[in-house]
Amino acid sequence: MERTFAMIKPDATARGLSGRILSRIEEEGFEVLGMKIVHMSKAQAEGFYAVHRERPFFGDLTTFMSSGRTVVLALERTDAIRHWRDVMGATNPAEAAPGTIRAEFGESIERNSTHGSDAPDTAAFELGYWFPGAELPAAQ
Ligand code: UDP
Ligand code: MG
Repeated sequence: MERTFAMIKPDATARGLSGRILSRIEEEGFEVLGMKIVHMSKAQAEGFYAVHRERPFFGDLTTFMSSGRTVVLALERTDAIRHWRDVMGATNPAEAAPGTIRAEFGESIERNSTHGSDAPDTAAFELGYWFPGAELPAAQ
């Protein structure tokens, strides 16, 4: 079993898509170990996306991510990191494969409805960022 960090972004919560995305997560065999609604501050968004701080889209991205509610999720499944990336689809919804969440719901490369960790080290950082201390059950 593996854990990953996922988020339903403000563009999706604003359009009332959280339930449909959560249904898809459960249909895909993920167990939801942690879930909460967060309206993050700009500073929290900057900390979460610190790896991207030199990128040209960093300012717009952190303004968007702090513009409304998100759902932050700790998910568990076999091959969780790769599988959630596959279910989300490509970063740019215009390039995402049919049937992926970003193809179905994403509005633009920025407003692409969901986030997912891309590797074990980023999953560990992101899970700890939003679920600090002992909020999640201990790994089996
Ligand atoms: N993003 C953007 N413009 C870009 C690339 C990325 O606004 O040219 C945003 C988009 O919301 C993306 C996030 O920044 O999901 C993080 O980018 P990353 O390359 O890590 O994509 P992801 O891992 O989310 O697919
Ligand atoms: Mg990424």
